[in-house]
Amino acid sequence: HPRVSLRLGAIAPSATLAVTKRAKELAAAGKNVIGFGAGEPDFATPNYIVEAAIKAARTPAMHKYTPNDGLPALREAIAAKTLRDSGYAINPTDVLVTNGGKQAVFQAFAAVVSAGDEVLLPSPYWTTYPEAIALAGGVTVEVFADAAAEYKVTVEQLEAARTEKTKALLFCSPSNPTGSVYTPDEVKAIGEWALKHGIWVLTDEIYEHLLYEDAQPAHIVKLVPELADACIVMNGVAKTYAMTGWRVGWMFGPSDVIKAASNFQSHLTSNVNNMAQVAALEAVSGPLDAVYEMREAFDRRRRLMVSMLSEIPGFKVPNPKGAFYAYPSVEELIGQEIGGTLITSSAVLSDVILEKAEVAVVPGEAFGPSGFIRLSYALSDAELIEGVERIHKLIAS
Ligand code: PLP
Repeated sequence: HPRVSLRLGAIAPSATLAVTKRAKELAAAGKNVIGFGAGEPDFATPNYIVEAAIKAARTPAMHKYTPNDGLPALREAIAAKTLRDSGYAINPTDVLVTNGGKQAVFQAFAAVVSAGDEVLLPSPYWTTYPEAIALAGGVTVEVFADAAAEYKVTVEQLEAARTEKTKALLFCSPSNPTGSVYTPDEVKAIGEWALKHGIWVLTDEIYEHLLYEDAQPAHIVKLVPELADACIVMNGVAKTYAMTGWRVGWMFGPSDVIKAASNFQSHLTSNVNNMAQVAALEAVSGPLDAVYEMREAFDRRRRLMVSMLSEIPGFKVPNPKGAFYAYPSVEELIGQEIGGTLITSSAVLSDVILEKAEVAVVPGEAFGPSGFIRLSYALSDAELIEGVERIHKLIAS
């Protein structure tokens, strides 16, 4: 018998957190490290949201256990917000409030995937999905789309990967790590394909408000209403309201599946921290001003980053129209010598960039195939310019 169970022993550490850790070590050693690794807004949570939480902390009822599936007022506000932003009506009792979008992702897979079921995972993918699929006993089937396709999979690719065992498709647009946004037509085609074949769609809408240029909001259940009975939507306050540390997310979907996920959560974590839930209530029932302000700053940095990265020899940079990530292909650099090291993969390149230029990026290996790096542009304009200049200098030398 292994000391660590086979199930947990198989989990890889989060690569994004590993890069952040190494960058912090270098910073602690006195280096001026610039971090493109973190996936969080650099803004503070708006003050009116913080104030609501402070008031809640002074309310004795909030010091007690509350219903495990979420404060009723928050579930109602999430249903109202869904109607406002996504254009479809849901029942508040079909909303489950979770400890961040991450718990929603984990519970969504746990609720629909049985041992041996296959889950189609468009790649590059967010690093947490395959771990959540594996923990649910499922088998990840990666469907890769390259830089020329803007990292977006087609129905033909999904159909080619479909088998009798296909239970679900994970869909994430705007995407982490690529920043790609599917058009409404593309979303509709994928939704119709899933409906036709009885495949569940687990859709992660956490970046729904971070859209740029001509990117359109495209909520799969709004575009294919019949899919509602086989679709779980996952979302949260982290990215929209600069609330990554508060840990509030949610999932909604058909009553039976949400009930199963709620039963599971009742044993795992019970209710989400009440003060954080009240903050989330203030956020989702209030205006979207905070996100519009952040979006303006992100959009400026996005354009800056894409234009600067495009100047670096060997970088191919599709134009990301959502979230706050750029995902250049660095495939042309593999086989070259940079900073005295032979670059054999994007992981090696990322190490060289960190050690020689003191800039932290996340290698594509964390999100699927080698040959790419992810840079978050949720940092100040000055740091962004300095960081990309350092990478450019290193690679051009
Ligand atoms: N989904 C995606 C695609 C993400 O990038 C993240 C955070 O990085 C999450 C979900 C979860 O966010 P949280 O658990 O902070 O709400």
